[in-house]
Amino acid sequence: MDIIQEVEAILGYGDTCNHCLGRFFGKRSFSLTNEERGRALRIAHEIAANEPHHEPDPDSCWVCAGELSRTEDWAKRVIEALDGIEFSTFLIGTKVPPLVAESEEMVWSDLSLRDPEPLKAEMNREVGKAVSALTGKTADLKKPDVVAILDLGEGTVEVQVNPVFFSGRYMKYERGIPQTHWDCRACRGAGCEKCDFTGKQYADSVEELIGRPAIEAFDAENAVLHGAGREDIDARMLGSGRPFVMEIEAPRKRSLDLAALEAEINQAADGRVAVHLDGWTDRKMVQSLKSDKAHKKYRILVEIDGSATPDEFRTALDQLKGVTIRQRTPLRVSHRRADKVRERRVLDIGCTGTEGDRYWVEVVGEAGLYIKELVSGDGGRTQPSLAQILGRTASVVSLDVVLVKTANEYGE
Ligand SMILES: [Zn+2]
Ligand SMILES: [Zn+2]
Repeated sequence: MDIIQEVEAILGYGDTCNHCLGRFFGKRSFSLTNEERGRALRIAHEIAANEPHHEPDPDSCWVCAGELSRTEDWAKRVIEALDGIEFSTFLIGTKVPPLVAESEEMVWSDLSLRDPEPLKAEMNREVGKAVSALTGKTADLKKPDVVAILDLGEGTVEVQVNPVFFSGRYMKYERGIPQTHWDCRACRGAGCEKCDFTGKQYADSVEELIGRPAIEAFDAENAVLHGAGREDIDARMLGSGRPFVMEIEAPRKRSLDLAALEAEINQAADGRVAVHLDGWTDRKMVQSLKSDKAHKKYRILVEIDGSATPDEFRTALDQLKGVTIRQRTPLRVSHRRADKVRERRVLDIGCTGTEGDRYWVEVVGEAGLYIKELVSGDGGRTQPSLAQILGRTASVVSLDVVLVKTANEYGE
């Protein structure tokens, strides 16, 4: 079949608008709209058949029922749906009713057409061009700020607002604050008397202390904290802080002054938590943060049952320096983590002073080293341990993280 015969066969299915006629050959030739292709092919066919010119009524098109002549209207609906949402890039998507998609696919296969374009692709492109023209904003296929989905069957536009991400480091100066929100254990978040109907096990988390002012500033739905590891609830996070990325979900504002936001967060957190914000980032950074094996430095206060002389104590610490520790999942977390044995190295350990008959100790460990168990031995589940070497019961009275160094910072 030559192309004129193909056009004749297509027109035999029913009234076909120029958009839809042209789209059956949509991947042939460049710099033409499907409407231009369709008009040219229609006229070529009429000349070949020596028939009078017939301009079709788009609304009676058997494929699209005129939808492709209403792209301007769709663009206006998109702009209405995006009202009040800040964005500089967008993407249009289209939900095509199955019957419509099947109609054009039937013609492709009946006639073995080689270069057709689906209706969805033309709709996305033409409405995108119209939105661009009306708003001056740019279409972006890869990382749009917002996505508008046209539902051709329902005649509606659904908007998805993509998240923004910023990175920084946080310090936690108060013990008893978890890194992220925990559901109440009694009601699993539904709200009960035990949790004062908040649904939360702890009143605040680092995530919420940073997130609340951020949600307000971005006029967003939610804020999710992605940390480079986490400290225990009862540990402080001191020094230069822990790297994190904050994901702001469905923000209606995107171009904020992060220095001002940092000040607002720090004021609202009132010294319990503080942040330094580094700048804007993206989801890739979350993945690298999560996969990053950060080395951590802890400062702990150690209590020994009975006494150990400072010399005995230091000698015992020296025996842990550079040593690989075998740790079976600690009893205190065994209810929520798989029971397994893992090996982590103590990179450095040393005594930095005393407080009464307790010792201040600084430990640098590989990511994932359990520090409390390194000291206590966890009933033999961690080996070797300080308690084992001393032959006495030993425990951590307080624990602070004083430095988190990511592999990136080491240049590894
Ligand atoms: Zn049509
Ligand atoms: Zn509850």
